[in-house]
Amino acid sequence: MTQEKYTRQIITGRTEWIPGKLFSIVTTKDPAFQFVPGQFARLGLPENALDDAKPDIWRAYSMVTPAHADGLEFYSIVVPEGQFSPRLHDLQVGDAIYVDKTAFGFMTIERFPQGGQLWMLATGTGLSAYLPMLDDPQTWRQFERIILVHGVRQANELTYQEQIASLARKYAVNEQQFVYLPLASREALPNTPQARITTLISSGQLEQLTGAGLDPAIARVMLCGNPAMVTDARKILADRGFAPGRRGVPGNLAVENYW
Ligand SMILES: Cc1cc2nc3c(=O)[nH]c(=O)nc-3n(C[C@H](O)[C@H](O)[C@H](O)COP(=O)(O)OP(=O)(O)OC[C@H]3O[C@@H](n4cnc5c(N)ncnc54)[C@H](O)[C@@H]3O)c2cc1C
Repeated sequence: MTQEKYTRQIITGRTEWIPGKLFSIVTTKDPAFQFVPGQFARLGLPENALDDAKPDIWRAYSMVTPAHADGLEFYSIVVPEGQFSPRLHDLQVGDAIYVDKTAFGFMTIERFPQGGQLWMLATGTGLSAYLPMLDDPQTWRQFERIILVHGVRQANELTYQEQIASLARKYAVNEQQFVYLPLASREALPNTPQARITTLISSGQLEQLTGAGLDPAIARVMLCGNPAMVTDARKILADRGFAPGRRGVPGNLAVENYW
């Protein structure tokens, strides 16, 4: 008998953030499945509802839950014309889902040296990858300041705000250690420019708004989500001296593209 590369898990919970558009699922977790915060799983959907159904489609999903949690949580958009996300959205508690036994990805705090400031810049569901990092005491020990910037279109896409606030209360040693900056590009938020992350980096406003400097000597930047944001931000930051690590030399930039 061949050893499968995946395990069969069961959906144990769902949250509908914006009906038909943004949702989260919680699944059981294989006790042998391990990951580093920031990594992603490969999720497979069963070809039919039978217990021995094979997975027929796979997609990458960042873990939302911390590494020590009993289950796994994933935060997803519904791409209406997509092959995977509408089917994932249809799953109900008790349904099966497959999880590759291996976790993947290199956007982890291990990439960065001790100390300095961690900038977590996300668009949309790119927020997912940062949530387990925020629920890891090592992140708060490693960095003097942590700046989380979540860029979305509409304000109701600013999900997980209660969890973010509660993680800050749990881990931050003082009020200065953590900054959370929600941004909406198509809706006015109080005291916040209606702008994209990349525009605010270029103009220097991101530094003003967060009260932190994007100094390559002390800032370690992560970019996650929309590849257009990642590419543009990467260019702007490269001009300022930010670069990924190479051949064992730690860098100050790490990225994850979602498509
Ligand atoms: C490393 C990695 C981690 C990922 N983690 C997540 C995650 O945590 N949550 C999540 O929702 N998706 C995540 N994705 C994207 C996910 O794998 C699927 O692409 C997504 O669920 C849509 O699948 P689909 O088959 O329905 O559409 P696809 O055919 O895969 O995508 C169709 C189009 O939809 C758009 N799109 C895809 N994903 C997104 C997205 N997340 N937000 C906005 N537009 C999108 C793009 O324009 C894409 O070309 C990740 C992708 C990668 C590579």
